[in-house]
Amino acid sequence: MNGYGGTILRVDLTDGNISKQPTPGQVSRDFIGGRGFGIHFLFKEVPKGTDPLGPANKLIISSGPFSGMMVAGGGKCSWTTKSPLTGGYADASMGGHFSAEMKYAGIDVIILEGISPKPVYLFIDDNKIQLLDASGLWGKTAFDVEKELKHKYGEEYQVAVIGPGGENQVLYACINHDYGRQAGRGGVGTVMGNKKVKAIVLHGTKSVPVADVETYRKASLALYKACKDAEGLAEWTRYGTTVVTSWCDEVGALPTRNFSAGSFEQGPNIYGQTMRKEIVITDKGCFGCPSPCGKYSYMKRYNTQVEGPEYETIGMLGSNLGIGDIQAVAEANRLADNYGLDSISTGGCIAWAMECYEKGIFTKADTDGLELKFGNIDAVFALIKKIAYREGKLGALLALGTKRAAAQVGKGTEKFAIQVKGMEQSAYATHNATAMLLAYMTCDVGAHHNRSWAITYDLQVGRDKVVPEKVARIVWLQNFRPMFDVLGSCRLQWVELGIDRELYIPVLEAITGVKRSWQDLEAVGNRIWNLTRMYWVREIADFSREWDLPSPRFYTEPPKTGTTAGQITKYEDVQKLLDIYYEQRGWDENGIPTQQTLETLNLSALVA
Ligand code: SF4
Repeated sequence: MNGYGGTILRVDLTDGNISKQPTPGQVSRDFIGGRGFGIHFLFKEVPKGTDPLGPANKLIISSGPFSGMMVAGGGKCSWTTKSPLTGGYADASMGGHFSAEMKYAGIDVIILEGISPKPVYLFIDDNKIQLLDASGLWGKTAFDVEKELKHKYGEEYQVAVIGPGGENQVLYACINHDYGRQAGRGGVGTVMGNKKVKAIVLHGTKSVPVADVETYRKASLALYKACKDAEGLAEWTRYGTTVVTSWCDEVGALPTRNFSAGSFEQGPNIYGQTMRKEIVITDKGCFGCPSPCGKYSYMKRYNTQVEGPEYETIGMLGSNLGIGDIQAVAEANRLADNYGLDSISTGGCIAWAMECYEKGIFTKADTDGLELKFGNIDAVFALIKKIAYREGKLGALLALGTKRAAAQVGKGTEKFAIQVKGMEQSAYATHNATAMLLAYMTCDVGAHHNRSWAITYDLQVGRDKVVPEKVARIVWLQNFRPMFDVLGSCRLQWVELGIDRELYIPVLEAITGVKRSWQDLEAVGNRIWNLTRMYWVREIADFSREWDLPSPRFYTEPPKTGTTAGQITKYEDVQKLLDIYYEQRGWDENGIPTQQTLETLNLSALVA
C-alpha cells in the first residue's frame, strides 16, 4: 500500500507471542493513520469497562502516511490507550525520529497487549523482533537507559523509554525519546510501565512505496521551500514555542500561581529571549524538520543539560509555581523528563499542592516537611522526585493527579484543581478567553491545548463574547488540526510559519495515490472526533455535560494579576458555550452524539 509500511505488529506481553498482519486497506482509507488508527483499534479491540491498568488495555503506537517521508515535519507518531489518569480516551503525539524508523522497519502500528511477567524491552531491527530482558534497566532513569541502549546498539537505533514514573504507576507518566521528545499526556507511560515494557528499540532499512515519485519529489520540495521562505522562520527557529511566553504575559494568559493570575511579576526572567541568552546552546529538530523548535540548554548553576524547556513547561513549572528563574525551570524540566513525568500535569499537581499549603489546608505534616510555598524551587525539585517514586504522603497523593487528589483531600480543594475530565489544564490561563476555555472544556483527552489553539481568536473577536462564530472556530480547529497527527506530521509549520495547507495535498496524493482534499480530511477529522466522544460515552457510566466543565476559578474569581477585562463571570455563560457547541456538533443536551449524527458520519455500526 503506497505511503505505508504495510504491517501491524502485535506483541502479546503475557505470553511473549509476536505476530504480524497486513495493515487493512479499508482502515487506512477510513482512518488514514496516526491517531485515526489509534482510536480505531482502541474502540474495536479494548472491551468496554477495561481497567486501564489491567492486561486487556492496549498501547497503540501508530505512524501516518507522512511519517518518515520527505514532508516538512514528517516525524510524528501517536501513542493511544485507555487513560489511567482520566478513565477515558488518551493519545499523545511524539516527535523525534521514532515514527520514521517504524516506517523503515515496515511497521505502521505497534500494538502492545497483555502484561509481561518481568521487565522487558522490545527490540525491532527490520524483521528481527524480540522481547529482551530489561531487569538490568528497570529502576533506571529515562536518559540513562536511552544512553545505555544507544551505546549498546548504535546511534541509528531509535529508543522510546519510560522512567521511574512509568514504572511506579504515576498516573501521568510519559514516554521519552531522543533525549527530549515525549509522548506526554494522559498516562501513556503509565500503561507502558504497567505492561512492564521499559523501552522500545527500533531500526529499519526498508523503503516505503510511493505512488508517483516525480510528483512527490516536486510537491515536497515546494512545501520545504515555502517553509524556508517563510517570513517568521528566523524568529521561530531562534525561540521555538517560547516565543509566545512574553505575549501570554502581556495579554494575561500566562498561568501564574495555580492559574490564580494571568501575568507574572517575574515574567521577563522566563521569557524566550532570556532563555535564549542565558541557557540555550543549540537548536534541535525532529526528523525532516525545516524549522527546528527544540532548544537544547545548559544550566550552569546545576551543570546539567536538557532539551527545553518549551512554552508549556515554562508556564507550568515556572510562573504557575511562582518560579521566575529560567535555569531553575529548565532544571525542573530535566528532572520531570528524566523521571518520566508529563511536565504539564506535574506542574499542575504541584501548583495545586502549593495552594493547599498557602491556604493552610496542608501543613508540613502533609508535605513531608516541605515548605511548599510558591517560588520555592528546592521544594519543587524534591517533590518531582517524590512523585516519580510515589514517596511519602504527598508524593503518593500527587501521583494520582489533581482530580483524584482533591477528591481525597476535600475541603473545597476541588475548586482549584485546574483540570477537565481529570487531565490538568495546559499553560493558558483562560479567565478571559472564552474560545480557549471552550477548547479546553471539549478537548477529547482532557484540558489540552493542541487540538484547538484559539487564544488569538479570542482577542480578535472579543474576549468575553459567547457567540456562535467562536464556537464554530473551535469545532473547525478540532476537526482540522488533529489531522496532522493522523497524517504523522507536525502542525507547527502551518500554525507558526503560516504555510498554505493546500501545499500538503499534492504531497499526500503523490505518496498514497489517493485523491484527497482538505474538505475530505476535515470530514475524516470530524468522524474521528465523534468516535472518540463515543469512547468516553461508552467508558464513563455517568458521562454528561458535567465532564465538560472547567475549573470554576475561571468564571468565579477575577485573575489576581493581568487584565480582568473580558472575563465571563456567569455560570450560565459557560453552559451557553456548551449549548452552542453541542448544537453545532449535532450532540444532545448531555453532549452525546445523536443517532442522526452517528448515521451521517457512518459510525452507527461501529459504535453499536
Ligand atoms: Fe519537531 Fe518542532 Fe520541527 Fe515540529 S517544528 S517537527 S515539533 S522540531
